[in-house]
Amino acid sequence: MDDRLEEATAGSDRSAGPRHRRRATRRRRTVAGVALVGVVGGSALAFALLHHTGIERVCGRPSDLRTRDDVTLAADAMSALARAQTEVGHRIDVVQSYRSCRQQALACEQICGTRAGCPGRCAPPGLSWHQRGLAIDITQGMLDAPGVITALEDSGWCQAVPASDPGHFSFDGCH
Ligand SMILES: [Zn+2]
Repeated sequence: MDDRLEEATAGSDRSAGPRHRRRATRRRRTVAGVALVGVVGGSALAFALLHHTGIERVCGRPSDLRTRDDVTLAADAMSALARAQTEVGHRIDVVQSYRSCRQQALACEQICGTRAGCPGRCAPPGLSWHQRGLAIDITQGMLDAPGVITALEDSGWCQAVPASDPGHFSFDGCH
């Protein structure tokens, strides 16, 4: 609201009004500031915890990678994908599978706006199961297709973050 208009509406209480208003504004800013620090601090803490929970940063190319129909995975994960496809009775379309650390950084830049990644949507380069050849991202069409999620889960895949990244499945644990 226009300051002059507000003062005019405040009428006879002109002396106390502006000071009260200033205090209220300051309080709102403090609350917003605390909330922001909370959000940023929380994310930083989540990242710090991720770095210190024994998850090793992996950037070397896994030795047992296999490539079939443009999908590149570690041998066990490739077999598990094949089992899931057999169970559901058709090919499961995969958007991305193995990613190098450089490719992970590029993916995070696209998804989060920073190569360092963002919680729940793009793990920092080296900490994603994509770098181990143990993760796939499937299409929305596959998520919607009957039986695909169940077949993947039956074969050892985990839909690790369904709320924020539903197409992402990791093999041998939820990551
Ligand atoms: Zn993924």
